[in-house]
Amino acid sequence: MREDATICALSTPIGVGGLAVIRVSGPEAIPCCERIFKGRSLAKTPNSSARHGFIIDPENGEMIDEVIALVMRGPNNFTGEDTVEIDCHGGMYICRRILEVLIKSGCRMAMPGEFSKRAFLNGRMDLTEAEAVMDMINAETAYSLKAATSQLQGGLSKAIEQVRLSLLDCIVKMEVNIDYPEYDVPEITDEEVQDICGRALAEVEKLLETADSGRMLRDGIGAALVGSPNVGKSSLLNLLLGSDRAIVTEIPGTTRDVIEEKLDLSGIPIRIMDTAGIREASDIVEKIGVERSYRSMEECDLILWVVDAIRGLSEEERSFRKEMPEKPFLVLLNKTDSGRLDKETLAKTLEIDPALIVEMSAKERTGIPELTEKVKELFFAGEVLSFSQPLITNLRQKEALMSAKAALERVRAAEGMPQDLLVIDIRDAAEAIGEVTGKSTRDEVITEIFSRFCLGK
Ligand code: GDP
Repeated sequence: MREDATICALSTPIGVGGLAVIRVSGPEAIPCCERIFKGRSLAKTPNSSARHGFIIDPENGEMIDEVIALVMRGPNNFTGEDTVEIDCHGGMYICRRILEVLIKSGCRMAMPGEFSKRAFLNGRMDLTEAEAVMDMINAETAYSLKAATSQLQGGLSKAIEQVRLSLLDCIVKMEVNIDYPEYDVPEITDEEVQDICGRALAEVEKLLETADSGRMLRDGIGAALVGSPNVGKSSLLNLLLGSDRAIVTEIPGTTRDVIEEKLDLSGIPIRIMDTAGIREASDIVEKIGVERSYRSMEECDLILWVVDAIRGLSEEERSFRKEMPEKPFLVLLNKTDSGRLDKETLAKTLEIDPALIVEMSAKERTGIPELTEKVKELFFAGEVLSFSQPLITNLRQKEALMSAKAALERVRAAEGMPQDLLVIDIRDAAEAIGEVTGKSTRDEVITEIFSRFCLGK
């Protein structure tokens, strides 16, 4: 599919800045810019070279800005089309005027994500790589960025393409069998079909297993911060956030709402929810908070249970251990600055591994490095931390692989059935797998995916 229009957009954030970049891409990118550019000819500019000059309004010759124009001819650039990047001054009025004259000169404004969409349509990158570009831009922590850059290097695409090609090869051979049943020796036996599909299923399942770590790296580990009133949840949250965002008071139960805050724990993205506490509440507002606290425990990836080293454990807290949903948890033993409850005693009382307890003090601001280490051990120990392994990072990719999995499971369940029936499910599987990279994605889906990108990208 070729795009005929030449598009333009501001690629740097809207607002006042020292410099801004306006990107122009399409078959007419160079002539369109040439018409509004006063300086040495852009058409004669060697590839990937910059020219100094002025942007003028072609209608009246008015000078708009002094710029640098960078000429990058297709197909070996980001979009795969002729592209000109105009480095101009970063005023909002200047940028708007330059875009206006570009439009007069024959361009149209790009839609959000349209540059990346062209890169995809021109085969410069597949969908997983395009999504990785967006994830890189949106990455808020070092781990998120690392996950996105490794995806951009194509690890996921390669793994997926291999599975798809093995299924396509299988389909072709099965079709020979179906079309020429009179041949004595089949092109592919039933056992071979099951073997190929079995291996594809194992590979798809392996990728699906990475979906949680991929999501956590991209969007953050969802952590529920729970504990009885006054144990120091708000204070710890403030310590983690490095600010006074949650209100800290001496009255039990003042943190009433679930606040979700994103934080960067030495590169690990965490979405933390501070809740109303886990005690049985008497008043109605408090009760809503308590229910939410349970809900956030159900929804989170990690429970951070705060206990008070000064007060020690209440009866309620002793039984809480058994009520917690089955998922990773850490006990944050707070107030160790003046507390008497120690880690070993606490571990014995709760019947848990002492390694799951982190000694902290919100008051003296201690314990964060230890907490970071524990989170890394829990979530990124061994395999998951290795970014060299392909990771599924979004729901779209996950859903496509889930339907591939279902189709391959149908093939397994239909073992012994004629190949002309099996081939239907194998085709479905190949198609679903192709959706991850965009090899078999419908046009409207492609448009929808790229429309979520930002303008100018
Ligand atoms: P929450 O109800 O669990 O959110 O508890 P808060 O964060 O509001 O803290 C309750 C009380 O404990 C406040 O008076 C805090 O100043 C105090 N506190 C919190 N963390 C510490 C700590 O590490 N050491 C000491 N000594 N006091 C703390």
